[in-house]
Amino acid sequence: MKIIDTHSHIYLEEFDQDRLEVMERAQAAGVEKIMLPAIDMKTLPRLLAMCKEYPQSCFPMLGLHPTELDENYAYTLSQMKDFLREGHPFLAIGEVGLDFYWDETFRKEQLAAFDTQIQWSLEYGLPLIIHARSAHCELVNTLYNYKDEPLCGIFHCFSGTPEERDELLDFPGFYLGIGGVLTYKKSTLPQVIENVPLDRIVVETDSPYLAPVPHRGKRNESAYVYDTVCALAKIKGVDAEQVALITTDNAERLFWGCDFNEKRPKQH
Ligand SMILES: [Zn+2]
Repeated sequence: MKIIDTHSHIYLEEFDQDRLEVMERAQAAGVEKIMLPAIDMKTLPRLLAMCKEYPQSCFPMLGLHPTELDENYAYTLSQMKDFLREGHPFLAIGEVGLDFYWDETFRKEQLAAFDTQIQWSLEYGLPLIIHARSAHCELVNTLYNYKDEPLCGIFHCFSGTPEERDELLDFPGFYLGIGGVLTYKKSTLPQVIENVPLDRIVVETDSPYLAPVPHRGKRNESAYVYDTVCALAKIKGVDAEQVALITTDNAERLFWGCDFNEKRPKQH
């Protein structure tokens, strides 16, 4: 089995004690590639170091996370833009987006930073990894301004309503990023994604957060993406191998650039 964990923060210090074992367990579970989303400038050197250490397995993405943004966001963005200009091999802009769940202090700034980073995605031909929490309408309105552009990417950690699902899937170059929430007892996500074709879904962990059952409540790690693949297989009534095959193919096309300009993902 070949799985891509499309969202994993295993470069953070939560993994400093046993990073090698975490990587070995991921490999043993069939996770052959792990996409590392940036959150800020402070942790970017760790992220890049890990990609350098595991060049066959770990791949860097660059972006300012909406909850890591402060009054100096414009300066942070200019530093990040320098990294892009210098030609580091980032495979996506992320994670970026809007989060009004805890705090709306920087509402205006979040919207401005998101917009700037959408433009990077277009300028550099890179997919967007989008985090949105309590911000569905603002997200859709922002993306709608780019409806005629060849944007593509992932709605990371999707866990919305059927209406939200339909509005997001209306953006043809985008996939729903599905993780541990799918396995939670009270989650409505299984019903919400039951009829979403597998060719619009990628899998992720969001390590160290949101570990799937049976690891719920513990530190998440990339190997556990296998549990999400199995849960997805059960919901879809197919075997796990099939889920791995299609979601991996989706991620490969998205990150390795084959369909950036071809708005509709290939049908299976
Ligand atoms: Zn994340």
